[in-house]
Amino acid sequence: MNKLILIKYGELTTKKANRKVFINMLEKNIKNILIDNNIEIKKDRVRMYIKAQNNLDEIVLKLKHVFGIHGIVICYQVDNNIDNIKSQILDILKDKNFRTFKINSKRADKTFPIHTMELNNLFGGFVLKNIDCKVDVHNPDITVNIEVRPEGTAIYIDEIKGSGGYPVGIQGKGLLMLSGGIDSPVAGYLALKRGVDIECLYFESPPHTSPEAKNKVLKLASILNKYSGNVKVHVVPFTKIQEEIYKNVKDSYIITIMRRMMYRIASEYCKRKKFKIIINGESIGQVASQTLDSMIVINNVTNLPIIRPVACLDKLEIIDISKKIGTYETSILPFEDCCTIFLPKHPVINPNLEKCLLYENNFDYEKLIEETINNIEIITKFSNDYNDIL
Ligand code: ATP
Ligand code: MG
Repeated sequence: MNKLILIKYGELTTKKANRKVFINMLEKNIKNILIDNNIEIKKDRVRMYIKAQNNLDEIVLKLKHVFGIHGIVICYQVDNNIDNIKSQILDILKDKNFRTFKINSKRADKTFPIHTMELNNLFGGFVLKNIDCKVDVHNPDITVNIEVRPEGTAIYIDEIKGSGGYPVGIQGKGLLMLSGGIDSPVAGYLALKRGVDIECLYFESPPHTSPEAKNKVLKLASILNKYSGNVKVHVVPFTKIQEEIYKNVKDSYIITIMRRMMYRIASEYCKRKKFKIIINGESIGQVASQTLDSMIVINNVTNLPIIRPVACLDKLEIIDISKKIGTYETSILPFEDCCTIFLPKHPVINPNLEKCLLYENNFDYEKLIEETINNIEIITKFSNDYNDIL
C-alpha cells in the first residue's frame, strides 16, 4: 500500500491542445513550491500523484496555493485486486465516525473485468457486512471513492478544494504595481490565478516614506510568493521625481502627473525586462485618479496593456478576497505610501491632457526617469511562513 497525494487538474483539462504544456507547467510549479520537501511526482493526462516520505499535511497546505489544481486528495493506492481493495477500505473506515455511507467507484482501467455498478454493490455489501452502518446514496456521512486505474486503485474519503485557475507562468510574465494597500495584492493574486507570472514594482520615496512602508510591501510580496515561488520586488527610488513634480506642477494635478510618471517607468521597465503587461489595483471611481477621465489621461503615456483585475469590484468585495488570501492584516498596517504623502486637497477628477503636457515640460523628466530606472533595486528573497494564511 502506498499513501499518496493525488492532484486533480483544474480548468486546464478543457484546453485540449495545450494540455501537455499545462501539465508540465503545473508539475514545474509544484516542484518549485515543494522544493524543501522530499517528493516524487508521477503524472498522466488526468491526474498527478505525489509521493512523499513525510509531512503530508504541510505539503497539502502548500499545494492549496498552487493554481491549476482543482482538488487535492490524500489517497491510498493498492494493486487492482479486489481483496486488497477491500482490506484497504476497512482500514480507512475503522477510525471514522459515521452512520451512513456511499461507495463511489470509477473504472478508469477499462481492462478491469468488473463494471462500476457491480463494484459499488460489491464494496457496499462488504462494508455493510463488516461495519454497523447503512447505505445512503443521497446524503451520506461518508463517501468512499474508489478509482480503479491502470497504475493501481486509489481509495480516498475527502477531497480538499484546490485554488483552481491556470498554472502560474502559462501566460508569461507581468509586472504588478504593488503598493502597501489592499487592492494591489488582490490584483496580483487574481493575475497569478489566470496564469500570469508576476514580479512586483514598488515606488518608494525615502525619507518621505519609511522603511516600515517598504517592509510592509515586501511582506505582501512574500504572501503572493506562496502562490508562485517566483515573485521578486523591484524597488523604484521615486523621491527625486516626486519632489520635482511637487515643485513644478499645480496642486490639483500632482497625482495625475505622478501616476503618469509611474506608468512611464513601469512601461519602460517592462520593455527592458520583457514583461508583457502591467497589472495594478486600480478600481473604477475609487479615487480621483481612477475616474474613467483620469484613467484615459494617465494611460495615455503607454501602449502596453494595463490589466486591472479589481477594476469592477466594490471595495468590500476586494477586502473579502484580501482576507481569504491572507494579505488584509498586512495591508491595513498604517504606513504611508508615496501616493498619500503629497496628496493635494482637491485632486482633479477630469484632467486635461494638454495641461499635463505643459506641466511636464517644466522639468526634464526623461533624464530623471532614465536615472531612476538605472537605480532600481531588485529583491528576490523572502521568508516563507505558511502558518499565517488559509
Ligand atoms: P491599493 O490600491 O493597493 O489598496 P492604494 O489604494 O493606496 O493601494 P491607489 O492610490 O488606489 O493605491 O493606487 C492605485 C494603484 O496604483 C495601486 O493599486 C497600485 O497598483 C498602484 N500603486 C499605488 N502606489 C504605488 C506604489 N507606491 N508602488 C507601486 N504601485 C503603486
Ligand atoms: Mg486603491
